[in-house]
Amino acid sequence: MLMDFPFFRNNKLLYFDNAATTQKPGVVIDAMSSFYARHNAPVHRGVYALAEEATILYEDARSAIAQFIGAYPDEVIFTKGTTEAINFVASSWAQVHLKAGDEIIITELEHHANIVPWIRLEKTRGIVLKYIPIKEDGTLDYAVYLEMLSEKTKLVSCTHTSNVLGSHTDLDLIIEHAHSVGAYVLVDAAQAMAHSSVSVQELNADFLAFSAHKMFGPTGIGVLYVPRHMQSQVEPYQVGGGMVYSVDFHEASWAKPPQRYEAGTPPIAEAIGFKAAVDYINTHISFDDLKAHEARLTGRLINALQHLPVRILGPLDELKHSGHMVSFASENLHSHDIAAYLDKHRIAVRAGNHCAKPLHRRLGITDSVRISFAAYNTEDEVEQIIEVLFQFCNSKYV
Ligand code: PMP
Repeated sequence: MLMDFPFFRNNKLLYFDNAATTQKPGVVIDAMSSFYARHNAPVHRGVYALAEEATILYEDARSAIAQFIGAYPDEVIFTKGTTEAINFVASSWAQVHLKAGDEIIITELEHHANIVPWIRLEKTRGIVLKYIPIKEDGTLDYAVYLEMLSEKTKLVSCTHTSNVLGSHTDLDLIIEHAHSVGAYVLVDAAQAMAHSSVSVQELNADFLAFSAHKMFGPTGIGVLYVPRHMQSQVEPYQVGGGMVYSVDFHEASWAKPPQRYEAGTPPIAEAIGFKAAVDYINTHISFDDLKAHEARLTGRLINALQHLPVRILGPLDELKHSGHMVSFASENLHSHDIAAYLDKHRIAVRAGNHCAKPLHRRLGITDSVRISFAAYNTEDEVEQIIEVLFQFCNSKYV
C-alpha cells in the first residue's frame, strides 16, 4: 500500500502524524492534475461543453461522498474543512436560533475547532457553554451528561474520536438523550472517516463535519452534512455568486441546497481529489481489517511504552482494541525534545497540545507526543519507533 503513495517513494521516513493530515495516494494527485490539464472550467455557470463537463465532475464528487456516508447529495455541503463546517453551524444555525440562557453542551475532549466557535457565542450571545467532564481514564462521564440535559439544551456538539486520546464517544447514547430533550447534535468526525465507516442513517446526527485531508484527500475541502430536516433552519454561511435564485437592487433570494450553502467559486479540483480519495478507500480499505491492523499497532506500541517512564494517555484497554493513535507525556522531557530526537531518525510525530489545550490542562499536563496511524503504517515501522524511543529514554534516564 505504501507504494500507492508517491510521497513515500520520494521521502524515506516513518510518518506517524496521520491524525494531523494523511499522505495522498497517486490516484488523488492524478485526478486533480488531470482536471486542471484537461477539464478546467467554472461550474454551474458556463453554457459551453467544458463547463458542463466540470460541473458533472464536481457534482459526481458530491454524490460519491454522499454515498460514502449514506446521505443524499443535496445534504453534502462542501466547506474548507471541519473547522469551517463547525463555524458554519455556529454562525448559520446557532447564532440565528439560540438566545441568551440557551445551553450548548460539548466535552472536555474537544479540538479547539469545536470549542472556540461556542466560546464566541457565549461571549457575544449569552449562550451557556457546558462541558461533559472526563473521568480518570479519559472516558467521558456520561452520568454527568445525563444530569446536564434539560429543555434549555439546544445543541450537543462532540467529537466522534478524540484527536489526543484516540478514544471513541458513545454517540448512540449522546444522540438519543439529546434528542429526547429536543436538542440537536453536531458530530465532529474529523478523526473517524479514514478509520471506520460512518453512516448518517445509523448515526442519526443533525450535523456531521469532516475534512478530506485526514482521509487521503486534498487540503482545502471538507464537508458539513446538513440533513434535509435541518435545511429550513440553516441560513447561508456566506452570500454572493452561485448561491442565489434571484437578485435585484435591494432584494435577493436563495437557490435550493446545496448551492444555497456554497457561495463563490467552489474548490472544484479539491472535490474531484476528494472523490478519488473516497474511491481509494472504497477499493483498498476494509474497515474491519483496518481496525484489527490498527489495534495490533496500537497494542504493540502501548505494551512497549509501558516499559518507559512515560504516562500513556487515555483508556488503554479500549485503545488496544479499537485505537489508531497513542499519546504520551513525560514528566522530565518536553514533547518537543522527544519529537526532535525522533525527527533526527527520520520519524515524524506530533508534539505539543494538538489544538486541545483545555484537555491537556484537565489531564494536568501542558503537552504530549502523539503517534497516529493510517492504513499504510506497518508493524515493522512500529518496531522501529519503539527502538528509537527506547534509545532516547535510556540515554536520558540512565
Ligand atoms: N476536529 C478534530 C477532532 C480534529 O482532529 C481536527 C484536525 N486536527 C479538526 C477538528 C480541525 O480540522 P481542520 O483543520 O481540517 O479544519
